[in-house]
Amino acid sequence: MEAKICNACGHPFTPRPQNPNQTYCTDPECQRERRRRWQQQKRREDADYRDNDVRTSKT
Ligand SMILES: [Zn+2]
Repeated sequence: MEAKICNACGHPFTPRPQNPNQTYCTDPECQRERRRRWQQQKRREDADYRDNDVRTSKT
C-alpha cells in the first residue's frame, strides 16, 4: 500500500486496506478535523439544497 499525505497534519501515512481512499491519518486530532470539514461541507450542501428547494417551489 502506498503512503499518502494526511490532509490535516501533512504527515505521510499508510491507508488501511479497508479504506484505500482515506485522506486523513488515524491521529485522533486528524479524525476530528476530518469530521469538522465533513460537517462544514454538509452544511454547505444543505444550504445549497434548501436554496434550490425554495427556488423550485416558487416557480
Ligand atoms: Zn494526520
